[in-house]
Amino acid sequence: MLTEASRVRERSWVIQCALSRICGGCAMSLGRPIAFLGTPDEVARNAFHLPPMHVGCAEELRGAPGSDPRWRLVTTAAFEFVRPAREDLDREPRFEPVSLIAG
Ligand SMILES: [Zn+2]
Repeated sequence: MLTEASRVRERSWVIQCALSRICGGCAMSLGRPIAFLGTPDEVARNAFHLPPMHVGCAEELRGAPGSDPRWRLVTTAAFEFVRPAREDLDREPRFEPVSLIAG
């Protein structure tokens, strides 16, 4: 069974959210702040692999089946979408929040 938490990680969906600037949880337009869920490692690198979300949607996903118990929620006013370069060790598209509001 495909849980919400696994659907949101699909590469095609992640890219669609990035390009359309829609929430990875509810597919509606993003406002501010923008929320990201990430492991402590992703938070430390400021590189997230889940799509941007509304704060409420991110909180809901954090409690959903298939979620990662290590996830932390951070919020930001803006983000950069980074497509992996050919030589990049991290081959997944990722998000780099600009000016974190909360960790
Ligand atoms: Zn949403």
